[in-house]
Amino acid sequence: MATIKAIEGRSVHQIQSGQVIVDLNSVVKELVENSLDAGATSIEVRFKTQGLDTIEVQDNGKGIPPDDYGTVALKHYTSKLSDYEDLTSLDTFGFRGEALSSLCALSKFHILTARAEDGAVGQRLDFEISGQLKGTTVAAAQKGTTVSVDELFHNLPVRRKELEKNIKREYGKVIGLLHAYACISVGVRFSVSNQMPKGKKVAVFSTKSNTTTKENIVNVFGAKTLLALIKLDLNLEMAPSTGPSTQGARNWSTQATDQSMEVQVLGHISKPVFGEGRQAPDRQMFFVNSRPCALPQVSKAVNEVYKSFNVTQSPFIFANLVMDTNAYDVNVSPDKRTIMLHDQTALLERLKAALTELFEHTDHTVPQSSLP
Ligand code: ADP
Ligand code: MG
Repeated sequence: MATIKAIEGRSVHQIQSGQVIVDLNSVVKELVENSLDAGATSIEVRFKTQGLDTIEVQDNGKGIPPDDYGTVALKHYTSKLSDYEDLTSLDTFGFRGEALSSLCALSKFHILTARAEDGAVGQRLDFEISGQLKGTTVAAAQKGTTVSVDELFHNLPVRRKELEKNIKREYGKVIGLLHAYACISVGVRFSVSNQMPKGKKVAVFSTKSNTTTKENIVNVFGAKTLLALIKLDLNLEMAPSTGPSTQGARNWSTQATDQSMEVQVLGHISKPVFGEGRQAPDRQMFFVNSRPCALPQVSKAVNEVYKSFNVTQSPFIFANLVMDTNAYDVNVSPDKRTIMLHDQTALLERLKAALTELFEHTDHTVPQSSLP
């Protein structure tokens, strides 16, 4: 008798969903990115019990057209990518069509949506675990979309327990991530709140509809932080691309060019004499072409250079690496936070040299008005 059998569809869906939505951070990241992709200029993130009970993201974006209600939460259905080759020229955050379908499998999930032409009449959409549309109900709604995620991991007891155990740390990480999105998203108003059981809704932070990242940073971290910062505007000249340096990295493999490439590093960093006092991950934000991402090697390089000027403290850093889309691959992990950079070793060397030069030419005095 054959012993190899196919795993039942429902279980496959749950297993795969668990790889896209791994924690609180991935939920918030996916929902905020969907709102940004929908052209929102205002995004409100509401937590209940730090996200254990509810995570709700409301935007004023374009809304979901009725013809899409049936497919919006189906796996690998996306409005952002029509053919696989599109991946190289992608300018949206999403493209895999996995987030909403995964959330259906892992939480109690619903959507409220309305388009401009719908007036104040919206629809509440409810879904099966599979992502199939279960039903729609007319509901009052402003233009935009609100996605509600209740009781995350309620049907995965081990993960739910882990989440409950680590909720403080998870929530802290999420707020750090939201800081990054709020600071980089010029022209988008962010507002974040949390409500504990029996408590009142408490504002966590907010930004206005600012025109610069600098103003966003002031809204999030306070004007005092800015006084201790200098502008980052580095041009790293990279050698001509010679093709793939890592197997499986597809974006640049067919795109090797003879032209040298430039990587710009734009943003803000602490003056080397006046750091943040400790390494605070929520005060070290990295982006590639404005996409928040984890760049542990870049972060390490920056901290090393900083240390050679200021032994006792670590910097605040907000750095956006602007580069050709052929020079990296975001399609490495389902959460798209891990980015594979082409020629990372050379990039780190150039970055260290450029930062060292910047610090050597920086006025090392402490601004009087920022002294306690
Ligand atoms: P992806 O973002 O990769 O397309 P998702 O599962 O996150 O996959 O979303 C599926 C689709 O649902 C999107 O392509 C988009 O058309 C629609 N959608 C999701 N969130 C929103 C939103 N906040 N506003 C408008 N449309 C949305
Ligand atoms: Mg998405």
